[in-house]
Amino acid sequence: MMRRRLLASMLLVTMAISAVCSGKFAYAEETITNRPTYQIEATYVEKQEIVKGHMTVTLPELRDTPQKEVYFRLYPNVFQHWKYNKEAKPTKAGHIAISHVKVDGVKQKVTIKDTVMKVDLPKPLPKGKSAKIELDYQLYLPHGGTRLNKYKNTAFLAQWYPMLAVKDKEGWHTEPYTTTGDPFYSSMSDFDVIFHVPKGYQVISTAKDVHQAKQTVHLQQYNVRDFVAVLTKDYQVLSGKSGKTKVNLWYTKTMKDVSKPLLHAAVDGLQFYGSRFGEYPYQEVDVVLGETGFGIAGMEYPGLVTSLPKVPTSDGIAPAVNVVVHELAHQWWYGVVGNNQVKEPWLDEGLTTFSEFLYMQKQMKQDDEPWLKRVAIKSDEIHRSAGIHSAQRLYDYPDEVYGIMVYLRPAAMMFALIHEIGEEKVMKILNSYYHQYQFKTATTADFIRVANQVAEKDLTPFFQRWLYFK
Ligand SMILES: [Zn+2]
Repeated sequence: MMRRRLLASMLLVTMAISAVCSGKFAYAEETITNRPTYQIEATYVEKQEIVKGHMTVTLPELRDTPQKEVYFRLYPNVFQHWKYNKEAKPTKAGHIAISHVKVDGVKQKVTIKDTVMKVDLPKPLPKGKSAKIELDYQLYLPHGGTRLNKYKNTAFLAQWYPMLAVKDKEGWHTEPYTTTGDPFYSSMSDFDVIFHVPKGYQVISTAKDVHQAKQTVHLQQYNVRDFVAVLTKDYQVLSGKSGKTKVNLWYTKTMKDVSKPLLHAAVDGLQFYGSRFGEYPYQEVDVVLGETGFGIAGMEYPGLVTSLPKVPTSDGIAPAVNVVVHELAHQWWYGVVGNNQVKEPWLDEGLTTFSEFLYMQKQMKQDDEPWLKRVAIKSDEIHRSAGIHSAQRLYDYPDEVYGIMVYLRPAAMMFALIHEIGEEKVMKILNSYYHQYQFKTATTADFIRVANQVAEKDLTPFFQRWLYFK
């Protein structure tokens, strides 16, 4: 994600300085059982502003110990009794109601608390066995909800279905929602989604889409962490191609003037990152313009990103090239190489911000590296006064220092690494990290290990200093 606050602070300091500066993918059969499969049939009832869904989740067969329960995240419930910053409070509340839960065809009781739903399995599921969890749900769309929102003739559906929580070495991840950063953590899954929408609507999604208004749309996307959809009557599209990937820029009438430069940025950005970090593995990517929540400049999902159409710059209002390329870089850092965004948000945001600044430096001839250096000095002060470093959990950061510690200092770190070992080696590190952790979940330790391996020297003290102030 990129926040407006971060954009604004970048602008302020920049000005001060300028005064001085289908998605169907063929995968080997044996890996399929390692991922959950979601089958969702969803109907958008426009008048009532609800999505009625029937979902079947087939659990993966691979597990270390017998599994007795399954946790799901019900993120729309945060919009029912909003307890965060009042500027972001939805003007109309929303939530998700669950019913008719069955495990392998047998009715099952569930426990729901806020955004967490626990489903007890009738008997412990051993290694090598799968189970089907089936349920009905009704999603009541909020107005002005962060990421999940109904606005005019558009429904932005993010985290719009019960999402399987991640179980890893640390156990189940059911950490609470927060408005600082992106409080989501999910693992690779396969999706088979049918949408029924009112006449005139089209569906823009994580999958390879049908580019026409059709009342029933069948979408499939394998090997993605999440599935987002925008149901709309208000958007038009401009398309291009980057290698084998189709790039779509979606805009409304009032945003037409920036559609061409932003499509160009999207196509060029995908090409730029692809040639450096490794190929984008999906057939299509969508860039949907518009603000999708209070203060959100842009947001990333697999195969689909959102961005403001325009941003203020030191030369006046301009097409939001930096936001578009930031969110697209997340396709590499978050989308393909995953990380626990709650526990180590710097890992995707830092690498993404570095990718964004690198693009702006090389392709747009906007060199903000000197500015990043000054930000790094400022982050030293923050560390000294608040005792906070750059590799902490979301919850540990006061909102106003989050951007500087998690986005900007790690980006400055990557430029410093270029000075230390050269650009070619840094690109090789990112390329190697991308290929080693493609479709997996990486940690800070994994990143440092790859860096040391590729650089053929121990960079641990370098990362200790930059990330942990040691
Ligand atoms: Zn981001």
